[in-house]
Amino acid sequence: MIVWDGIIIGGGLAGLVAGITAAERGKQVMLVAEGIGSLSFTSGVIDFGDFNALRDRQDHPFSHISEDQALQSVSKWQELCPFYTGSWAKGQPILTPLGEIRPAGYVPYSLSAQPLEAAREIVLIAPQGLKDFFPGLFASNLALNFPQAIVTIKPLQVDRFAQHYSLGKSILPSDYAKYWASVEGTDYLREFLMGIIGELAGMKEGLVLVFPGLSASFEPLLRDLLKSLTVSIVEPTIFPPSPVGMNLYQFLRKKFKDLGGEFLTNGKVEAAVIEEGYCPSISLQSHGKTLELKAKSFVLATGGIFGGGIQVGPRTIREGIFDCPLFIPEQWTSDGFLGPQPYTQTGIEVDAELHPLRSDGEIYLHNVYVCGRMLAHWDPWTDHCGGGVALTTGHRAGTMI
Ligand SMILES: Cc1cc2nc3c(=O)[nH]c(=O)nc-3n(C[C@H](O)[C@H](O)[C@H](O)COP(=O)(O)OP(=O)(O)OC[C@H]3O[C@@H](n4cnc5c(N)ncnc54)[C@H](O)[C@@H]3O)c2cc1C
Repeated sequence: MIVWDGIIIGGGLAGLVAGITAAERGKQVMLVAEGIGSLSFTSGVIDFGDFNALRDRQDHPFSHISEDQALQSVSKWQELCPFYTGSWAKGQPILTPLGEIRPAGYVPYSLSAQPLEAAREIVLIAPQGLKDFFPGLFASNLALNFPQAIVTIKPLQVDRFAQHYSLGKSILPSDYAKYWASVEGTDYLREFLMGIIGELAGMKEGLVLVFPGLSASFEPLLRDLLKSLTVSIVEPTIFPPSPVGMNLYQFLRKKFKDLGGEFLTNGKVEAAVIEEGYCPSISLQSHGKTLELKAKSFVLATGGIFGGGIQVGPRTIREGIFDCPLFIPEQWTSDGFLGPQPYTQTGIEVDAELHPLRSDGEIYLHNVYVCGRMLAHWDPWTDHCGGGVALTTGHRAGTMI
């Protein structure tokens, strides 16, 4: 039986980054994932929150990452995804799905809202029937946030979706995005955008188009089209499932496979053999079969409570594969609906090399490394650093294999 250098359990951002990092280092790695992870639901934005303040917080995942390691993971990310722009130290503006502005860390360049700051005329493209997109509300927020500009809405209809329109059906952003990325869709878009630019020829200097659901940074045809236009186009983030997140997932998965990594989907890891503080093998269910896999080391990137890695029952809560000891807060929830929720701190405590720890502070498993949402002592929603933790700790775990 093959003994892998490393097996990564989990195919979200943390697991994929760990897999890519290890494969790039020439390691023979397999990634096993039961499902696609949360990446496909996200906007593809990698937030770091207030990285330095969070690093100073005792036990926060960033406290296990040195500044040098953080810089390494970020520069690897820029190498991997050259179409991302931003900084982990200084937030840059992006548009929310409702047309508000928020600061973000790293974003695909077409999401950067910077061009809007100097806009004199903003045209909001409103693809008809686009699910969970509210052009009127969006345009009023744009007008409030960029008072120096005139905001207008330009409806967009496509013959391909005529039947949907006539039945009053919503169209998923991913369906629109797939169409824009096709040759037919890109041609249609070129004509449509050139029409607007032609109409507003006098305004070219300060004209910015806002186009939801394009996912242009990932698609070569769209990238070329946008480059050839003389005006800036800004994409807002949109409600899940977001084509940008879906494209990022496919992009990273392909990268991992191109580097020689083995990717096993629909594989649910159910148990691990544990011998004297080491794990020699795990067993999993895949397509109705039970498989045993051996490796020198393992990365646990199973996404915490929401990803399926931590199972919460009426009276029990446990990590489902290695039975790693968990930090569980005494109080589970708090009253403030939008405030910090204690249960989000649930996870595995680790040392500086991301080994899981026992409650006495000793290493629980010497050849297992934990990353992403499985780590204890942070709240991705109020710390605003979900992607940053997945990226930095996933990268660190990948260097440990
Ligand atoms: C809707 C949404 C929006 C977000 N928006 C942002 C944002 O704007 N900015 C930002 O920085 N962050 C954002 N995040 C957070 C960020 O994306 C996550 O923190 C991060 O992706 C977590 O990654 P992960 O790899 O740790 O876990 P996950 O993505 O949850 O992946 C877990 C993986 O483990 C697999 N798995 C679980 N159990 C098993 C098992 N037993 N066997 C095999 N596989 C298993 C799952 O199938 C999955 O593949 C958002 C998250 C969500 C859900």
